[in-house]
Amino acid sequence: MLADKDRIFTNLYGMADRSLKGARARGHWDGTADLIARGRDAIIEEMKKSGLRGRGGAGFPTGLKWSFMPKGNDGRPHYLVVNADESEPGTCKDREIMRHDPHTLIEGCLIASFAMGANACYIYIRGEYIRERECLQAAIDECYDAGLLGRDAAGSGWDFDLYLAHGAGAYICGEETALIESLEGKKGMPRLKPPFPAGVGLYGCPTTVNNVESIAVVPTILRRGADWFAGIGRANNTGTKIFAISGHVNAPCVVEEAMSITFRELIDRHCGGIRGGWQNLKAVIPGGSSVPLLPAAAMDDAIMDFDWLRDQKSGLGTAAVIVMDQSTDVIKAIWRLAKFYKHESCGQCTPCREGTGWMMRVMERLVTGDAAIEEIDMLHDVTKQVEGHTICALGDAAAWPIQGLIRHFRDEIEDRIKAKQKGRASAVAAE
Ligand code: NAD
Ligand code: SF4
Repeated sequence: MLADKDRIFTNLYGMADRSLKGARARGHWDGTADLIARGRDAIIEEMKKSGLRGRGGAGFPTGLKWSFMPKGNDGRPHYLVVNADESEPGTCKDREIMRHDPHTLIEGCLIASFAMGANACYIYIRGEYIRERECLQAAIDECYDAGLLGRDAAGSGWDFDLYLAHGAGAYICGEETALIESLEGKKGMPRLKPPFPAGVGLYGCPTTVNNVESIAVVPTILRRGADWFAGIGRANNTGTKIFAISGHVNAPCVVEEAMSITFRELIDRHCGGIRGGWQNLKAVIPGGSSVPLLPAAAMDDAIMDFDWLRDQKSGLGTAAVIVMDQSTDVIKAIWRLAKFYKHESCGQCTPCREGTGWMMRVMERLVTGDAAIEEIDMLHDVTKQVEGHTICALGDAAAWPIQGLIRHFRDEIEDRIKAKQKGRASAVAAE
């Protein structure tokens, strides 16, 4: 459990003043120039030592990612791009940071950009986040007025500009290279990797793309020290983490907790338990729609972190915890996700373009039971042909929830098909 003194996002619920004055009162922008004066290498080393892993979903080590940016000056500008295109179903954690604690993010942008030699940073915000864009822009304007951004930002000697770009509502623009294409004014379609953005990113220049939460925790890590951050959670799964819990709990919420908290403690402590009691739990998607669901039995002693959930063939993803009780038609729930991925596929690679539609249509028939039992294996085979064979992770994201459903709820799918077949046979006999 996270102690109050260890919370980074002290205004996550917007109960205090979110303006610069309020942020300063909570300790933000305190000695920022001194943090920067430690130098690039020291900052990157401290980030590595903290063990921070990317909070956008993939969990790639943040300090290591920063270290991929070229050190020397080859004449190209460097960029930091903050991915605020928070669109993963169930995920609404970055929204709370941008609404209520925007200065944690802006200060993080300055420090991270300095550490990577970037004089400019773009925050790419989800099209639907209109109020959040307004809050963030107001905070950016305040910072320019106070000399915290612009020339000699915060008295650090570093010139730094921060721009806010507004997306247009496409899920795929949250994929880092599609996001870069969109920023460049092109259609948001993922690029092949490698090259990774650190080599060839925005306008062909070295670029690091980081999630909002990953950047917003940076100033506090530097102020309190890597050891403090690394002391929360388990080895390789460190720090505080914002969870967004939705579905069949008594009180859905967004909450900052310690990484590696157990599922039971997270739900009992912050959500008032499962609707109808723990015996009523049926399944959980632990990390946003791109990771496979797990059945209730697997959640009994679940540890909410990257490694534990990966070992269960699921993942922490965006830490958007979607809870389903016994009243849930899990087949229909996963069909709905299949429909989402089909809609959001950009269509440039065949396995994803064709496969997402194919998977959705078979799922549609599994929902009503109008399928043959053999089609379950056939569907599983198709997910395997999509997984790992596409340009970006959307193909995997479309395949994994279906694989999870078949792995854990095969009986329920078969029962539905058999019930339908039995119903048909009885109808024929009655004719
Ligand atoms: P990824 O594993 O391909 O990459 C993660 C990050 O590490 C990227 O920035 C990438 O450039 C970098 N990286 C990985 N290998 C590298 C290497 N060898 N050299 C240099 N850099 C390297 O994953 P991804 O496609 O960026 O993200 C997938 C995840 O995004 C999913 O797990 C899902 O949970 C999450 N997601 C989040 C949202 C959201 O709204 N936050 C939406 C959709 C998906
Ligand atoms: Fe587009 Fe899907 Fe290919 Fe990603 S996997 S590039 S979304 S078609």
